[in-house]
Amino acid sequence: MKKQYINGQWCDAVGGGIWKVQNPATEEFIAEVPYGDDRDCIQAIAAAERAFDSWKKLTGWERGALLRRVADLIRSYAETFARETTLECGKPLREAVGEWQVAADLFEWYGEEAKRAYGRVIPAKRSDRRMQVILEPMGVVGIITAWNFPAYNPARACAAALAAGCTVVCKGSEYTPLSSMNLFRALHEAGLPPGVANLVNGDAARIGAALLEQDAVRKISFTGSTRVGKLLMDGASRTVKRLALELGGNAPVLIFDDVDVAAVARTAVSGRFRNAGQVCNIPQRFYVAENIYEDFLNITSTHAQQLRVGNGLEEGVAMGPLINRRQQQHVLQLLDLAEQQGASLLCGGQTLEKGFFVTPAVVADRSGAVVFRQQEIFGPVLPVIPFNTLDEALRQANDTPYGLAAYVWTQNLKRAYVAAEGLRFGMIGVNEWAPHATEAPFGGWKQSGLGHESGSEGMLEYMEKKLITINLS
Ligand code: NAD
Repeated sequence: MKKQYINGQWCDAVGGGIWKVQNPATEEFIAEVPYGDDRDCIQAIAAAERAFDSWKKLTGWERGALLRRVADLIRSYAETFARETTLECGKPLREAVGEWQVAADLFEWYGEEAKRAYGRVIPAKRSDRRMQVILEPMGVVGIITAWNFPAYNPARACAAALAAGCTVVCKGSEYTPLSSMNLFRALHEAGLPPGVANLVNGDAARIGAALLEQDAVRKISFTGSTRVGKLLMDGASRTVKRLALELGGNAPVLIFDDVDVAAVARTAVSGRFRNAGQVCNIPQRFYVAENIYEDFLNITSTHAQQLRVGNGLEEGVAMGPLINRRQQQHVLQLLDLAEQQGASLLCGGQTLEKGFFVTPAVVADRSGAVVFRQQEIFGPVLPVIPFNTLDEALRQANDTPYGLAAYVWTQNLKRAYVAAEGLRFGMIGVNEWAPHATEAPFGGWKQSGLGHESGSEGMLEYMEKKLITINLS
């Protein structure tokens, strides 16, 4: 059933709107889904508000059991769901299957965490007072997510908010509605009570405005661009809504000359071109010690040219297309700008006859093009910049408005610590290309966001603290 899901029912858009889902690898239209607006969203908020009291009153054990059932269902449908994810967003099937497995992990983990919403007892100054802080779910939560991880992004926020005892109104990206509709199929089949989890699809600005304006919505969890995150921050002031913002990134990588250059360069290529570079915390700018700079460039260029680019459903394809024509044009324009700023394209950066492809590009960037530091590339481009000292590398790495993730590669423990502590980013990978996990907090500094998802921090973000003081005199 590929529809919106409101109050336990699959439904069309109030205004009858339809959205055609396009396969970015073939440019073919593959499905039609309802395309709603604020009217659908207001119905969903009302359903979530009605469901809140009884969902909140369930124990963490009871909510947890339902969430773990969602995890089991996702695992049983993972292959089918992943095919549709690949069809609508282009990533290789293997990556899509992995994404659905992590979505299942999130529901399993939060199904357990629901039991652990501990409060605190405070030893009071006065002997006749008793004080405790308890945690309570905030209420209705609006969840707006991006297309790059169309299963993981909504799963991450929904699992944590539902575990906390909140009810949700979720809007996936209009480019990838099939994945969020599949996620809600699992929620529906798991037996969540009507209204607890609702899904709308449609006009982003009107749905966003409805979530911002309705008092019943106490928090908006947003995964997407810094541009839209700022719009939501402005709007949230009207009803003093809480916000969780998981925004863009621009992750630097520091590679020192004590590493095995060939091994790091090879894994850098798979790390950089995952999901065609459309990952918020993916390594973006590679600062490489001067004396291994040429070797690193040669090896990454060789491996990048060997990556098989194509339709993610085909066996052996390592990289798919970008999500749409606009994103393809954005990446090509950034490459042009970087060349004007002194960088040279060593390989890739080409389009294919059909589909929104850009082939994996490696760029020698001796002078450190400003565009790669100030903008999120969100595409398959690997710029390499030489450095001579740790201080110089740190200064360049930190010179960005973003602060999501950063990476350090070295065999020297002291260097690893000094670099990790000097980088102004929320997540640091040391000799690791994936510094995140279901059980650990995920969040950005500076213009990369507010708050954390995942881990125990992720659930606490959806809970209010309440102080209860008892007078025994
Ligand atoms: P986007 O900001 O264009 O869209 C994200 C979501 O916001 C979509 O559902 C879209 O429909 C909705 N939206 C657009 N305009 C809106 C408005 N006016 N009001 C309310 N909602 C609106 O981002 P995108 O292009 O879908 O995704 C790419 C961006 O997401 C990148 O910047 C990437 O770094 C970021 N991202 C961040 C994380 C993270 O955890 N930090 C994870 C994934 C993606």
